[in-house]
Formats: sequence, C-alpha cells, structure tokens
Amino acid sequence: MKVLVTGGAGYIGSHFVKMLLEHGHQPIVIDNLSRGHREAVPPNVHFEDIDLLDTKDLAYIIQSQLPDAVVHFAAFAYVGESVEHPERYYQNNVVGSFNLIRLCSDNGVKKFVFSSTCSIYGNPVKVPISEEQGSNPINPYANTKLMIEMILKDFENAFGMKYVALRYFNAAGADPGGIIGESHNPEPHLIPIVFETALGKREKVRVFGNDYNTPDGTCIRDYIHVNDLANAHLKALEYLNSKNESTIINLGTGTGNSVLEIIEKAKAITKREIPLEIIQRRSGDPAILVADNKKAKEALGWSPKFSIENILETAWLWHQNPKY
Ligand code: UDP
Repeated sequence: MKVLVTGGAGYIGSHFVKMLLEHGHQPIVIDNLSRGHREAVPPNVHFEDIDLLDTKDLAYIIQSQLPDAVVHFAAFAYVGESVEHPERYYQNNVVGSFNLIRLCSDNGVKKFVFSSTCSIYGNPVKVPISEEQGSNPINPYANTKLMIEMILKDFENAFGMKYVALRYFNAAGADPGGIIGESHNPEPHLIPIVFETALGKREKVRVFGNDYNTPDGTCIRDYIHVNDLANAHLKALEYLNSKNESTIINLGTGTGNSVLEIIEKAKAITKREIPLEIIQRRSGDPAILVADNKKAKEALGWSPKFSIENILETAWLWHQNPKY
C-alpha cells in the first residue's frame, strides 16, 4: 500500500514508518518538523516538509501521490501548553486536520487512520475504560482530538470517508534497534524524565502527588510500547481494507503502573540512583487511566507484545545514546 503519513518524523509516526517499510508498504511522509526530527525518517523514504495549514502544498502532495490511505499523527500534544495556548491547538490540530480530511475526501482518498487519545474520556467514570464510556474532555488538547473524531464521522456520513480513530493510552518505549526513540523539547513525560534523571541530566524526578486513591498514592497509567501502537495502525489499515467500516478503538495494554512503580523498575534496569521528590498534584491528572482493550483484540486481532519491563529497557537503551 502507498500510505501518506502525517507527522512521520515524530515519535510515534517514525516508529510506524519503520514498520510500514518492514512490511513492504510505501510510506510518503509529510511533517513540518516543528516538533519532529528529520533524522527519524530514513533517507530513502519520500519526505516532504509540508504544513497541514498550507492547503496548496497539501493538495499537491495528495493529488500527485494519490495514496491508498492516510495515517494522521501530526498534532500538538501537550496538555499544559493547550491550556495556556488553546489557539495553537485549535489552529494546528483542528484546522490542520480539517484541511487534510477535506482534501483527502475531495481527491477520493477515503481510508483514514487517526491518532486520538484516551484523554477524550476526561476523568473516567469506570476503570478499565471502554469505548462505550462517553467522552468528557477536560482540556483543549482533548477537545481538539474529539472535534477531529466528529469531523471524520460527519465526512463518513456525507462523503463515505472510512476511518479508524485509535485512542492511545500512554505511549512509551523505543524501537529495540536504538536508532529511533522519544525526543521532545521540552520533555513532559514521566519515563524520559526518569531516565534523564538516572543519567544525571536532571537532579530528581518530581512526582506529582502521592495522595491519590491508589495503592501507593501515586497516579496509575497504562503504558503501551510505541511499536505495539505502530502495529495497531497496520492492523487498522487491514481493517479498513477488509471491512470498509469506521470504528473507534482504545489502544492500551489493560494493565497499569504507578509513578513510584515506574521509578522502582527503572532503578532495577539502570542499576542507578533515581532521586525523587513528592510535590503537589499536577492539575488535570486523573488518578487511574487504564484501557479496556477488548475491542482492539477482537476487531483488529491485535494484542500488545511488550511488557512494562520491555518498555523501560528499550527506552533506557535509547536515552543512553539518543540520535536526535
Ligand atoms: N508525572 C510525574 N512527574 C513528571 C511527569 C509525570 O509524576 O515529571 C506523572 C503524571 O502526573 C502522570 C504520570 O506521571 O500521573 C504520566 O505522566 P505523563 O506526562 O508521562 O503522561 P500523561 O498521563 O500526562 O499523558
């Protein structure tokens, strides 16, 4: 398949591009490199530095390439930033995605895989969280992702667009080859921060609260390996090809780890000290987010292959020698 990958120079997108190549598919990567890394995309892959807000360039690449499908990763994805700068998120995520969806639809590209998020659920009513649970986003980032799901649904009704929206839990880890990995600036995520602390690049890990209603008082998250995520996108493309139906699917492992458990496991893997300090809660953090992944297993025939130890080992390999 020829697959247009937006955000293919980003963390999850670059792992998906590698997997597409390994399965004999042809990726066409577009990325404006505002947050992605050119080095994350192999030099032999067709790459275009295109912004989704630039409809002329976007129309050109879609019309000249006429891909079989689109996998859309490109987005801003920092909750805190979205609260301070909602305008950036509505512009980049909603307007950019709308341009992409409209131009795909206008040009007969009707298979669309979308990176959505579990933050659409807001504070969960029930854990593990299934897709049946209503959406109740509590920050602008999650609002933008829900709006894009709505645009896709409306384009399905009106124009026959078929889409799979994948609601990710906490993406983590790196490709075991050590050539690509997670590199954000600034870095807000727990696991990279833990390893940067183990390496002495940070003084300590600031743990955001230990007074939650969880066994050790710290927040529990469902960490899913980036290659398990990438693999689910391949399965989503197969689903669109075989079923030609739209669906929304959670992607998580179904198990959770607390912040303190992550730090303890990281200590065991690195054999280094990882100093920590408990500070106040970060606003907007639900106590527990764990996926019910039954639908992903049944509909996509997907299941996660990487354990939390594998996630931490591959992340550690990357952080000791990041390539970008
Ligand atoms: N966290 C923390 N200290 C940090 C970064 C994160 O205690 O420096 C906690 C955060 O409160 C959450 C978990 O680690 O409970 C995962 O946070 P991350 O930002 O990695 O992902 P999120 O769940 O916000 O998408």
